[in-house]
Amino acid sequence: PKAAIDPKLDGSGTFQLERGVKMFSQDEVKPGEAVIKVEWVSIDPAMRGWLNPTRSYVPPVAIGAPMRALAVGRVVLVPKTERTVEGGNDKSAPLMEPLKVGDWVTGVAGWAEYAKLPAKDLQKIQIDKDISPTYYLGALGMTGQTAYWGIHDVGKIKPGETVVVSGAAGAVGSIACQLAKIHGCKVVAIAGGKDKCRWLKEDLGIETVLDYKDADFKKKFREIGYLDVYFDNVGGDILDMCLTRLNKGARIALCGAISAYNDPNPKGLQAYLNLISQRAKIEGFIVFDYADRYHIAAEEMARYIRDGRLKLRETHANGLEECVDALVGLFAGKNQGKMLVKIADD
Ligand code: NDP
Repeated sequence: PKAAIDPKLDGSGTFQLERGVKMFSQDEVKPGEAVIKVEWVSIDPAMRGWLNPTRSYVPPVAIGAPMRALAVGRVVLVPKTERTVEGGNDKSAPLMEPLKVGDWVTGVAGWAEYAKLPAKDLQKIQIDKDISPTYYLGALGMTGQTAYWGIHDVGKIKPGETVVVSGAAGAVGSIACQLAKIHGCKVVAIAGGKDKCRWLKEDLGIETVLDYKDADFKKKFREIGYLDVYFDNVGGDILDMCLTRLNKGARIALCGAISAYNDPNPKGLQAYLNLISQRAKIEGFIVFDYADRYHIAAEEMARYIRDGRLKLRETHANGLEECVDALVGLFAGKNQGKMLVKIADD
């Protein structure tokens, strides 16, 4: 299938993408392009929003177009006349060498088995015994960048502060909790269900873990006292509760509001007056604004992965046909850590 969509996540350019479930032929690859075999695609709650025909930070995915998705894959074709094509449009990216067949890359390939993309929109990635390709869709990709900048730049965490993270057993949340812990904060993790809470407590060593599905959640939440930073992944009732527990100068990093993504009539904030009385800030942010500093976060987090301070978990589905269920599964809490779909047969 062919589709005209804007695959650039910052919405800054439009060009024609050709994708298909079959391999592209050599003649179809023009100078400056590369064809990749998609190995893994990222499944993100934001995808739900990309299906709404509303104004947002990226244009909606057009009806009939392939679903937009971040992916990692391997270069399988470069133009005939060039042995390699230049790759990487991000000045901050450490790797700017030309792409060649066999290279591991990441980019916005969509839910597809093969994708032909401008080589400048593909970033070459480094894989080694500690760094799996999938990490570039998780901690070393958009997920990790979101956690890192939300915690540091928006949350402005300081050692000793109380940092509450919702969606804590998810991809972004589990990294946000660990970063706050690494930097000496008292972390309160909120997640749904015993297994997730056990993982956060026992494996990740998070001091306080609350299950929002527990009957006495509200009572236990009040017992934690007041918070300095709330890293919000879910919005809704949990955001409302956090707004009632702000310390003076508290920061809310408004990362996401998954509880509202499928709700046609989401509730407004009910406790916003606390923002005024406590001189607190609630600040929206989008990870892409940090593109020129991604390398700082990626290097730091790769170090934490290697020295064992950052532990990662992934939930996998298999095959293009499972992408839809995987996306729907995010809204039913089916994932621990990063949700990914394995596309290629090995
Ligand atoms: P997750 O891995 O956290 O997956 C979603 C999780 O959300 C589920 O596992 C589930 O966990 C929880 N959830 C689902 N429905 C509800 C609900 N009704 N109420 C409370 N929790 C719910 O996804 P990500 O880590 O990829 O994303 C986390 C958040 O960050 C999302 O809101 C996403 O949109 C946002 N985001 C924002 C970015 C930005 O630039 N601002 C960039 C990337 C992500 P449980 O079982 O615990 O309920």
